[in-house]
Amino acid sequence: MDGLTPEQRHLRDRAGELAREAAAQAAETDRSLAYPWPMVERMTEAGFMGLTIPREWGGLGGSVMDAVLVVEEFSKVCAVCGRIAVEANMGAVGAIMAYGTDGQKKLAAGLVLAGDKPAICITEPDAGSAATEMTTTAVKHGEDWVINGRKTWITGGGVSRLHLIFARVIEDGAFKGIASFIAVRGAPGLNVARRIPTLGLCGMPETELELADLVVPDGMVLRAPGGFARGFGRLIDAYNGQRVGAATVALGLAAGAHAHAIARANTRRQFGRPIAEFQGLAWMLADMAIEVEAARALIYRAAKSAGPAGFPDRLAAAQAKVFASDMAIRVTNNALQVWGAAGYSRDNPMERYLRDARMFAIAGGTAQVLRNQVAEQILGRKLPQTRDGFLKLVAEEAAVGKLAAD
Ligand SMILES: Cc1cc2nc3c(=O)[nH]c(=O)nc-3n(C[C@H](O)[C@H](O)[C@H](O)COP(=O)(O)OP(=O)(O)OC[C@H]3O[C@@H](n4cnc5c(N)ncnc54)[C@H](O)[C@@H]3O)c2cc1C
Repeated sequence: MDGLTPEQRHLRDRAGELAREAAAQAAETDRSLAYPWPMVERMTEAGFMGLTIPREWGGLGGSVMDAVLVVEEFSKVCAVCGRIAVEANMGAVGAIMAYGTDGQKKLAAGLVLAGDKPAICITEPDAGSAATEMTTTAVKHGEDWVINGRKTWITGGGVSRLHLIFARVIEDGAFKGIASFIAVRGAPGLNVARRIPTLGLCGMPETELELADLVVPDGMVLRAPGGFARGFGRLIDAYNGQRVGAATVALGLAAGAHAHAIARANTRRQFGRPIAEFQGLAWMLADMAIEVEAARALIYRAAKSAGPAGFPDRLAAAQAKVFASDMAIRVTNNALQVWGAAGYSRDNPMERYLRDARMFAIAGGTAQVLRNQVAEQILGRKLPQTRDGFLKLVAEEAAVGKLAAD
């Protein structure tokens, strides 16, 4: 029915078992804002960090689908743990394992299999959705690159060791494209400027990074096919895995909140009956179940679409993330409603589920920007977002029209 192999069911059950330990500390992680190191240690021992790293580099050679199963189980009880599992298996790890040199793969595998959750550094104060407007530069000096700029909303700053930093490449005084550079925490010039206070997912530091004359040797440039000019698109393909991962955290949160809502609706009595018997609530619970299953189907489909490089299909990943992130906000909100005042209290996990769920429609491609991507693909045409891009398209179409008329 679920299309999973016996090994995948076993993996999911193992993750579910360890997730019970994560459940016990999730509220404390939220309250203390502390990165859950003891849980990360347990996840590392269990082989869940770097699960997707190929066997030749010491990992288990797991698929995106395997990682999804693990992420979902943790996210049902601890979304911070779920996000850690995402970043230790998708995103930067996927990009380095697909495009990296042997030296880069060895470095990444060594760190992640020892429990590191890498950081991806793209966003800047003035370049969010318009990521290519980033101003951080990497200037070639002899055999090294010198990086300067400011990154923001970097998940895991201060706890992550491996950093994949995106910058504008300047070689021989000319702009060559956007590339990514691998640096390790502790390198001079890789500084955490501040931790950003957040609404939810509170055990995970969100940070601003200051890159001040950070020196990266040429051997640590992650070179995607297509060279500097076209490599950015290929590097961003790695983000499709991360997107499916983020969608899975949203799914896990919704499924976890839904389970709590069912339990409460069956036990809480008003007007002399379990509140689950009121049709108003029964239908809410039914709608939640339908939405959770729909998100799961989209996510599994996207995860299974992963090609040889290990990256899921762009359209399938965007569809899954848009649906799951919007769905998680609705479902966690309704699950809190089922709990009434008790759901509003910090004594219970419902308000945490809602706060944690709010993020997924923003990070890693907003709900609007991903809808643009879906629209482009179903319409089969570019939908330029910049004014210049739009004017260029109009000029090109006018030229084609003139040619046809001549
Ligand atoms: C918790 C969290 C963790 C994050 N982690 C990371 C990380 O590890 N690394 C990293 O590099 N970044 C990270 N980000 C940043 C994230 O990727 C950006 O927030 C996201 O790309 C959106 O950019 P922005 O916040 O600047 O919003 P903006 O781009 O300023 O957008 C503001 C609003 O305008 C809308 N909008 C913008 N452009 C369009 C358009 N063309 N069409 C329609 N609507 C549009 C957006 O949807 C949004 O509603 C994280 C963000 C959060 C909240």
